[in-house]
Amino acid sequence: MLKNIVAALLLASSLPALAQTPAAPPAPATAPVTPPKLIVAISVDQFSADLFSEYRQYYSGGLKRLTEQGIVFPRGYQSHAATETCPGHSTILTGSRPSRTGIIANSWFDLGAARADKSVYCAEDETQPGTSSDNYQASPVHLKVPTLGGRMKIANPATRVVSVAGKDRAAIMMGGPTADQVWWLGGPKGYVSYKGVATPPLVAKVNDVMAQRLAEPNPGFELPPQCMAKDFPVKAGDRTVGTGRFAREAGDYKGFRISPEQDAMTLAFAAAAIENMALGKQAQTDIISIGLSATDYIGHTYGTEGTESCIQVDRLDRELGAFFDRLDKDGLDYVVVLTADHGGHDLPERHRLNAMPMEQRVDKALTPKALSAAIAEKTGILGKTLIWGDGPAGDLYFDRSLTAAQRTKVEAATLALLRAHPQVQTVFTKAEIAATPSPSGPPESWLLIQEARASFDPRRSGDLLLLLKPRVMSIPEQAVMGSVATHGSPWDTDRRVPILFWRKGLTHFEQPLGIETVDIMPTLAALIKLPVQKDEIDGRCLDLIAGDGDSCAN
Ligand code: ZN
Repeated sequence: MLKNIVAALLLASSLPALAQTPAAPPAPATAPVTPPKLIVAISVDQFSADLFSEYRQYYSGGLKRLTEQGIVFPRGYQSHAATETCPGHSTILTGSRPSRTGIIANSWFDLGAARADKSVYCAEDETQPGTSSDNYQASPVHLKVPTLGGRMKIANPATRVVSVAGKDRAAIMMGGPTADQVWWLGGPKGYVSYKGVATPPLVAKVNDVMAQRLAEPNPGFELPPQCMAKDFPVKAGDRTVGTGRFAREAGDYKGFRISPEQDAMTLAFAAAAIENMALGKQAQTDIISIGLSATDYIGHTYGTEGTESCIQVDRLDRELGAFFDRLDKDGLDYVVVLTADHGGHDLPERHRLNAMPMEQRVDKALTPKALSAAIAEKTGILGKTLIWGDGPAGDLYFDRSLTAAQRTKVEAATLALLRAHPQVQTVFTKAEIAATPSPSGPPESWLLIQEARASFDPRRSGDLLLLLKPRVMSIPEQAVMGSVATHGSPWDTDRRVPILFWRKGLTHFEQPLGIETVDIMPTLAALIKLPVQKDEIDGRCLDLIAGDGDSCAN
């Protein structure tokens, strides 16, 4: 599919320019060890290490290239406790954990905020008048540290920094505030950017091509042989999942968005942007980050172990293959890193069929609303929402108008209730997390409080952090199910992601020991000889040279 879309997009050399940047002279061709001319950083949303390994023997496209020829870290870690999309994307190109990026969750609460809605979305500017966390103005204002693209631009303002993604938070957290172009899929009309950014002709063209795609029905994808054993129905609430093929009617945007079609479109956009902006053909190194969101939407909607996720991984592999072939055809010298913002966990209903009878959904009594009501009754402090939170796990915030004595009472009652609950692993107080040193050492052996510390921000984090036990899905059972499965836990299903590097000429090796996604930025920076102060980041440079030689040496 990508080939067709790219062909439609790149028909003519008369394509309008995405940005008016004068062409720089070509680099000398004879340097012995040269930095790559283009960095291609790909995040596959919810591509867990488990999903990566489950289908590894079937890869035939881009993932085959990366795993067979590349540098393979099958056990990468989004090392922090809050394994959500926004924190995860904030680590990938900053070298910094959420405790440093400030992106502690997809949404947090600012109970002192001026506006009525106290929930703050990670990629919004909540100070904009008339906004709410649902109807927000997209912004990178909460990201506290520079991205790799931002650092490259400081070192050389000619650097071209482009970020495209299915989700705004992916595009924004990987591109950073100084990126030249930041685009994400905003709805049926296609890709959008910040308010006030005019749509360049290339993006208009991409959106036209998407409109044409959308206007055609999708008869569904064929079931690859490796997916056949997955093809049985599983019931969760009112939903039945497990046997989907992504067939959709003409014009069905939701069906398009929650399908491999979305990633194909985003990759086509990226390929067209690379060609149109002549990325990788300048004197300096350029960078494009690509957020592929379909795997995540599919995981939430259908779970991770049905035909749906199986087809998605197969299609992703093929589309990535076509994308890399396109870059090869253009003769680009590029380095690829591919990873994920977090892992994932299948729905309990299918887990129970597959040898995991203990898998369960979270008790509704643990939702912030139910918790708040229960604590009000226990303490006799009535008439206000005592406890705020985004869901039945993660950060919890106490009402700010409580007196010191009331607050002590509420905290004690909440801790007692939660710690007695059979689904609760632990509850940390803000003071306990703040007193914990920033973790070091192998991410596979951190304590839970160290994970909590890695996504702790003294101003944005909650008064309590609630962590559920493993094998407890943080979506309760309900008559009408929204998502059937999710991530966000401090357990390895959600923390482990593949980290794959590839560049033509690099010798393949595989390193099974744990590394962190924060190691990606210093590793790429070293390849382009960009100095990064070690004390500014949490990651370390990974030597990508098999045997003698060290890509981290200056
Ligand atoms: Zn995600």
